[in-house]
Order: sequence, then structure tokens, then C-alpha cells
Amino acid sequence: MDIAVTNGVISAIGSEVRDEGESIDATGLVVLPGVVDAHVHFNEPGRANWEGWEAGTRGAAAGGVTTVLEMPLNAHPPTTTPAAFDEKVAVASQKAFVDFGLWGGLVPENLGDLEALHHRGVVGFKAFMSDSGIDDFHRVSDGVLAIGLKTAARLNAIVGVHAESQELLAPHGAPNPLAWCRARPAAAEVAAIRRLLVCMRGAGKSVRAHVVHVSCVEGLAEVNEARRKGVAITAETCPHYLAFTEEDFERIGPPLKCAPPIRDAATREALWDEVLAGRVDLIASDHSPCPAADKHKGEHDIWQAWGGVAGIQATLPVLLTDGFHDRGLSFERIAHMTATAPAQLFGFSPRKGAIAVGADADFALVDPGQRWTFAPEQLQTRSGVSAYLGRAFTGRVVRTIVRGKTVFGDGQVIGRPGGGQFVRPPGARPH
Ligand SMILES: [Zn+2]
Repeated sequence: MDIAVTNGVISAIGSEVRDEGESIDATGLVVLPGVVDAHVHFNEPGRANWEGWEAGTRGAAAGGVTTVLEMPLNAHPPTTTPAAFDEKVAVASQKAFVDFGLWGGLVPENLGDLEALHHRGVVGFKAFMSDSGIDDFHRVSDGVLAIGLKTAARLNAIVGVHAESQELLAPHGAPNPLAWCRARPAAAEVAAIRRLLVCMRGAGKSVRAHVVHVSCVEGLAEVNEARRKGVAITAETCPHYLAFTEEDFERIGPPLKCAPPIRDAATREALWDEVLAGRVDLIASDHSPCPAADKHKGEHDIWQAWGGVAGIQATLPVLLTDGFHDRGLSFERIAHMTATAPAQLFGFSPRKGAIAVGADADFALVDPGQRWTFAPEQLQTRSGVSAYLGRAFTGRVVRTIVRGKTVFGDGQVIGRPGGGQFVRPPGARPH
């Protein structure tokens, strides 16, 4: 059917559409709502050499991502104060190719800043229950987490949690990739989610938490059991947990180092079962690059490599290849998990996340049957490092449209830096 766009907004669908103005022929393609990637790290200001807003949102455009929700670390300063928030909005507004929202941080030092950050327009507060790996973003104790949850509940805001229990992580191990996996077992995720649920109990009726990057079924089971009892808790997983196994990590090495780690083949398959059964709320990339040198350091000792996967361009290709083609995942579920659900959870619905009259004209046009191999010249990430290079896909993003403007087409990013807009969830007060 036809979709009409007027001034960047969807103005009619189907028989209401009149034939006038510029038209794009999408015959043979599938039009998905643009991906709302709820979890990316662009590291600017402060560490723009790790990625930055320009490279990061060029990758977004190439991946069919029309809105990113960017994490408070590893920018410097981290987004834990109103001043740091303003600084990030300023730089992102000049450089972004796609629309963006910002997460605030929840750290032991900023409990007094949460309310001001909320009014600035953060999409939620991100906290770490294990060491973040960077010295300017500290993990929370259960006590701090409980206070943060209570404050967030009062503001009707959500807390996003990196749920690995530091106490259950081995501090070091053998130099090979498998040792990194063994040092961060699924049990550490389970224990952290249980502690999070305890912390939520005293935080008031409107408390909400979102567990980022769950890598294992045991973790999802904790979330789903709590949800059945009425707790407002949600979970995301990432394409790299669905695309790769420990054997791939042994072969590929540092580009696939992340936390929680890549799991074994049985875990990956079980995770797919959860996705197919509708028990995973959303899928986000956790795109988190670093300078190439910080990955190369880990070639002979995986512990020396920075952790993080550069995957913002891979979400739709993985879901189309490994999901739609290999496992029967429907386009409707892909649209829901990558766009509608994150837009709803973080307060951007109905403006974002759906193809509906009145919504922003944000689209990812995909050719579901096109076979291609991820080549270095297609990678937008500044470092040139990605675990997905050389991977074969069936299903490709051929055009990305943000508020009616094409930002990616014919294999090229064709928007302009600064074309992306800051999106503020409701509840924020303009200042
Ligand atoms: Zn992350």
C-alpha cells in the first residue's frame, strides 16, 4: 500500500494517498518503522576518538536506525549532571544524522541530580551493578540503587540496569576468549536481577526497571517471573547474543569481547526461542566501539582488550537473516521489538516507532531477499573494527528515511550532520 508523507509526518496510508509530489517506489521491498535503538554508546563529548556522534549516527542511518537512545557513558563528562547533559545535547545537535534521545546516569555521586536530569529530558537512568570498566562512571551498591529507583519512581522515570553481580565475576583468568566467558557466568546475571527486584520492592508503586543486554535464558526467566507477579520490569537482548557463539568469539577475538559475554550455542538457541515466543521486550544493539588499538591489545590476552561490540548496522540484517529466514520470525515482530516497543517504553510513542497517520515519517526500507557480505567499506564505525565484517547476510537495508528525508540510499549515507533532532520524552520541562 501507499504511504503519504507531509512535512516529515505520515499524513495518509492506503487508499487515502493521492498521487502528487515526490514518490519512492518500494516495490519488492518491505517498509519497516525506522529502528529505535535504545542502547548505543557514541562517547562524545570527551572520547570522540572512540566513535563520536557523526560516525555513530552514520552507522545508524546505514542500519535503518532512525532514532538512537544514547548512553551516559563513555562520554566525558558522563551524562550524570544537568551541565553534562546540556553539553551532550549541544554536540549531538550539530553532528547527528538521525534523531536522538539521551539516557542519564545513576551513579553513587549524582542522586541529587536525578530530578534535574529528568526535567532536562533523559529517557531514563542507567546504572551498573558491576564495574563499568571506565573510571568516571561508578557502579551502584544495592543501597544506592534502591534510592535511585525510589527517586525515579517518584518522577515516573525508568531505571536501566546493567545486571551482572560484581561479586560473582572472576577478576582475571587465562588469556583466551573462553576464560572471559567463564569469568562472567549466567549466574552473575541471575543474581543481579534478583537483587534488582529486591531493591524495587521498597521503591513505590510506580517503580519501573529495564534490564539491558540480557544474554541468557536464566536472566530472562527472572524478569518474566517477576512480570507475571505484576512487577514493571522489562528486558532487552542484543543482536550479538543472537548471531554469535563462544566458538565465533574464539575465532574472531577482541571485536566480540563484551559483557555479559557471548554464550554457547545452546544458550543462543534458547535465547532465540524466547525471542520467537515474545518474551523479549526489545532488541537493542549496545553499539559500543573503541579505538582499534584498544581492541588489538587483546589479541594475545583477551583481558587487555576494551569490551564492546560495534553493531549498530547489524540489528536488522541479523533479525532478517537469522530470524526471518532461518527461524520464521515475522516482520511484525521485528518491527515491534526494534521500533514500537522501545518507542513505547521510553515515552516516544505515538510520535516514533510505528507506521501510522500522525507519526514521524521514519522508515527502514529493506530488501528481504538480497544476499550480501559485510565489507569494510560499508562499515561506518570510526575504528574500522567490527565482529560482523565478513559475515554473510540475507536481507539488507536499502534506504533509511528520517522525518521524510532520505539519510541512506544506494549504499551511501546522504543526510547531513545536524539533520537529526533531539527528542524529549513527555514529562520533561523545557528549560
Ligand atoms: Zn551498553
